[in-house]
Amino acid sequence: MLYLKNIPDIKDKVFAVLLGTPLGLASVVGSIIAGVELLIMLEVQDIFVPAIFSESVWGYVDTALLTLTVAPVLYFLVFRKMQASMHRTQMLLDSAMDGIISMDHAGKVIGWNPQAEHIFGYSYEQTIGRELSDLIVPLNLREAHRNGLARFVKTNIPTIIGKRVEITGLHANGSEFPVELTIASLNQNGALFFTDHARDISEKKKNEDNLIAARDEADRANQAKSLFLSSMSHELRTPLNAILGFGQLLELESDSITSSQHESVTHILSAGHHLLGLVNQMLDLTRIDIDKWDINTTPLNIEDLVSNCVAEVATAIENKGNVTIENTITDTGLWVQGDNQSLRQVVINLLSNAVNYNEQNGLVTISSVLEKEGRLRIEVRDTGAGIASDKLPLLFTPFERIDQRHGTISGVGIGLHISKRLIEMMQGTIGVESVEGNGSTFWFDLPLAVETNEPTIAPRECKKPILHKYSHFVVLYIEDNATNVKLVERALHGFPGIELLVADTAEEGITIAEEKCPDLILMDIQLPGIDGITATTLLKGIAATKHIPVVALSADAMKEDIDRALNAGCSGYLTKPIDLQALYEMIASMRLSE
Ligand code: MN
Repeated sequence: MLYLKNIPDIKDKVFAVLLGTPLGLASVVGSIIAGVELLIMLEVQDIFVPAIFSESVWGYVDTALLTLTVAPVLYFLVFRKMQASMHRTQMLLDSAMDGIISMDHAGKVIGWNPQAEHIFGYSYEQTIGRELSDLIVPLNLREAHRNGLARFVKTNIPTIIGKRVEITGLHANGSEFPVELTIASLNQNGALFFTDHARDISEKKKNEDNLIAARDEADRANQAKSLFLSSMSHELRTPLNAILGFGQLLELESDSITSSQHESVTHILSAGHHLLGLVNQMLDLTRIDIDKWDINTTPLNIEDLVSNCVAEVATAIENKGNVTIENTITDTGLWVQGDNQSLRQVVINLLSNAVNYNEQNGLVTISSVLEKEGRLRIEVRDTGAGIASDKLPLLFTPFERIDQRHGTISGVGIGLHISKRLIEMMQGTIGVESVEGNGSTFWFDLPLAVETNEPTIAPRECKKPILHKYSHFVVLYIEDNATNVKLVERALHGFPGIELLVADTAEEGITIAEEKCPDLILMDIQLPGIDGITATTLLKGIAATKHIPVVALSADAMKEDIDRALNAGCSGYLTKPIDLQALYEMIASMRLSE
């Protein structure tokens, strides 16, 4: 009736003695009566139950204790433990959050807990003894299910057994839904049976689908915004090319215009440059938003970089309020890890803001503080009106202008947002402290770096154009916009030896290039018919024209546009609005190298 079997984790001698049936039983009895610990498994009527025994009592138990009177006690005690254990198991099954289903080797249901009733809509009574696949497997998958089961029973090679899989389940009402399933196979005395843990994941799936849809939607919106901003940038650059280009021409002719006309030109150019700055900021924002901003961090000398930025801001911005910039960073041994271009942009942004938002005759102080954990903090302090604490969080949000009353302050409120993104891309943090009425301090910190010998900033040279007057130099300008053509015509007019040829389509331009063999081709990119990129590729494939340098001249200013043109064989890329100085310098260098 009662025997011992399958004893895990027991010392050898115990194991040996217990296997000898009467002796073992005697010990068992003693241990049960003492009520102390040693876990063995008892098999009672084909069911395993855990029973607890102690080795320490072992030696004191007389085998004689096993008598007919003790046997029923033993049985009773084990039976009680078994009952309690089964009860616990039942409670576990009943309260499980998963549907727990057992089936035999033939696929017939032998266990079905309340959660399984809930998930699949069948009661316990409706399922016991029926084939599981008929109940919960959709019709089109039943064959595969049966075959899989039969194969496993035969070969014992698991395919989905022991794994967590997502399958389609069938509800009693005929609806199908996603189920997460784990199947365990158990072998009890050679009889194979299976336990399935099933979980309805409709809700989870729906949430996942919603998340994916939301992400896709956000991606689409982001792409649309980027496309909008870059085409806006293109559209704005085209008229700016005329404003700044003809403005520059007038400025170059300042000898022949009156001083008040010259003043007007200066205003046109200053406003034009301002507008160009805004367009560039928009483009920056786009590039950052679509992760197309290259960050290349190197050790940067802070004293060097900051003094350059201070000089640039001092000459570049209008400074109506007569604000003084005080640079207190004199330590030449401070190096941070950052991206040169990005960091310069941030420092210039903070300094420009500090000047623009300052009071009349105000002061801007830029200083550095060595922080713990190997970081350097740069602070830009102004003596302006300060910012209310509830407005501070808005500062780094794009398109938020803090003080709308001061209509004269320039900017569309994306400069700080760009600065924040750039600083974060360089593993830094940025912030602001401000007291209303008592100025603001914008700061950022970056990891310190080890000094290098490389100069941080290439010295900027400003060369006067040297146009050789004597050699003949033919420029072919392929451009469909008449105003742009007029501008370049005017810009090159009066330089002896320079001849300008014009084509308003790429097709015509290629024909002219083959016939006249110009020294330089200026190529607009967006053209009717063949575009400038394709035209460049074609020119590079024609023996007569392949040596002619092609320089792109385009209102497309995204890095990819530039890369595309260079890859197609362009030897340079000038963005509109054309910087006449840059155009002159380029032509001059080509004529020199002839
Ligand atoms: Mn065009």
